[in-house]
Amino acid sequence: MSEANPARPCGNTFTFAGATVELLDAAAMLTAARVGPVVLLRGAVWPGAVQWVEVGVSSADGEDGPVCLFTGAIGIADKEWIRSLILGHDPVGLLLSKRIEAGDAVVTRIVDGVGAVAVAAYRRLGLDWSAQPPANRAPGRLVDADLGLAAEVAYDSSGTVVRLRAAVPREEVNPDHLRGFIGLTLQAVLEITGPDSLRGRRYTVSREYLPAVPVTTRSVTLDQVGGLTDVVSQLRQIAVSFQHPEAMARWGARRPQGILMYGPPGTGKTMLCRALANEIGADFREIRTPEILDKWLGGSERNIKQVFRDARRYRVPTLILFDEFDSIISYAGAGGDAASQAINAVAGIFKQEMNDLIEANPNVLVVATTNFPDRVDASLIRSGRFDVKISVPKPDEDGRAEIFGKMIRGLIAAHEQPGFMMFADDLDLTALARASRGMTGADIKEVLRRVQLTKAMQDARTGGQVGPISQHELIASITELAGPQVG
Ligand code: ATP
Repeated sequence: MSEANPARPCGNTFTFAGATVELLDAAAMLTAARVGPVVLLRGAVWPGAVQWVEVGVSSADGEDGPVCLFTGAIGIADKEWIRSLILGHDPVGLLLSKRIEAGDAVVTRIVDGVGAVAVAAYRRLGLDWSAQPPANRAPGRLVDADLGLAAEVAYDSSGTVVRLRAAVPREEVNPDHLRGFIGLTLQAVLEITGPDSLRGRRYTVSREYLPAVPVTTRSVTLDQVGGLTDVVSQLRQIAVSFQHPEAMARWGARRPQGILMYGPPGTGKTMLCRALANEIGADFREIRTPEILDKWLGGSERNIKQVFRDARRYRVPTLILFDEFDSIISYAGAGGDAASQAINAVAGIFKQEMNDLIEANPNVLVVATTNFPDRVDASLIRSGRFDVKISVPKPDEDGRAEIFGKMIRGLIAAHEQPGFMMFADDLDLTALARASRGMTGADIKEVLRRVQLTKAMQDARTGGQVGPISQHELIASITELAGPQVG
């Protein structure tokens, strides 16, 4: 039915256990998965103990040739799971669940209290509570007999993530397999949450993973960053420390409250900050440092104080980014002239405000970025103010291949449709990486932007008589952008 809508060329709605599932552009999703993994379902609201569900598609080498790999992961909250076990699915349990959902503090406290007692009793009896699975723990299989599709189902060792996996030969895969796999994933959800728990719900499965779409705070994620594995894993750890204040408090640990990121222009520092904000679920505020520095005496101090006064009031988690942080330069001990003194005063105020903020508002994370770390005075970024210092270098060859892969995959996911192929099949990412020596992520984005523009112009001139972007065209664009110094 939605096939009549040109905006959704490949819409496909089906129902499963009373839930309506809308599958958008299934063919394009499978195409995108040829280049790299694509996440299709995330961020939806699930019943009972299920906190999150992810479904993805990727390519892999199977024993008998390339396969399309479908993967699903179902996250179960410990607390929610304990609650659901205590409440069960009878009318009283359902009534109490509704009360908890509606925010009834008394009911929540009672049920959680019973849960805590139950866990303690289990432990005292020498039983490992965490080893008790939310459903049958033994690895199993879920099968869609019509399609001949079988998913292996297994639990993580924590017992709080259920994983599904199914492979279909790449030559044979079609949108029905994707639909079938989503059905099997929902089947696994039902086994955790009870029959009827999905009835009346609505889910949209779409290409959510769009790395090369213009980066907005809402869309960019750490998964989209290429070639910076260590940096990304460091940021994920910071996000975990931010998301679990209770664990931090239990151990008297103080999570990092200031991060300094430094590296050459265009290496992805701003992108990483936005992605970190999203990972934490924080608001993102960008302060262009040079803009708050006022040429009038006292103006800069006032502006900085205002930024921090606002920051102390944020009631939701917020990441504040100070761009071009080196513009608050403090040449410690240098020059007794008026200009140096004024700069030192600004830096002094920043230090003081940063100290106060750490005490005053645990909701805030401050990140400062700079291309010139050696211009930033050490006392300004000493540990305690900026606990974490992260170098963001230019990508090496493997890094560039990964960035090309992620960006191209994003473009395919965002733009390819049945009948419209954006990139040729025979792209060689390693050769692209080799040819783009010395380039940053921002340069690679520009290489792609230029090819896209050329293609669009040819398309406009010829009425659509244009082939997909080829390896040769990408190499030509790299050479053109690099000029004489790279290549
Ligand atoms: P500057 O120091 O000049 O402010 P920056 O280090 O903050 O630069 P960004 O502005 O984050 O760099 O990068 C520009 C764009 O380049 C990003 O929005 C992103 O699209 C792309 N990009 C840069 N590095 C990467 C990367 N490692 N992976 C994926 N995309 C990247």
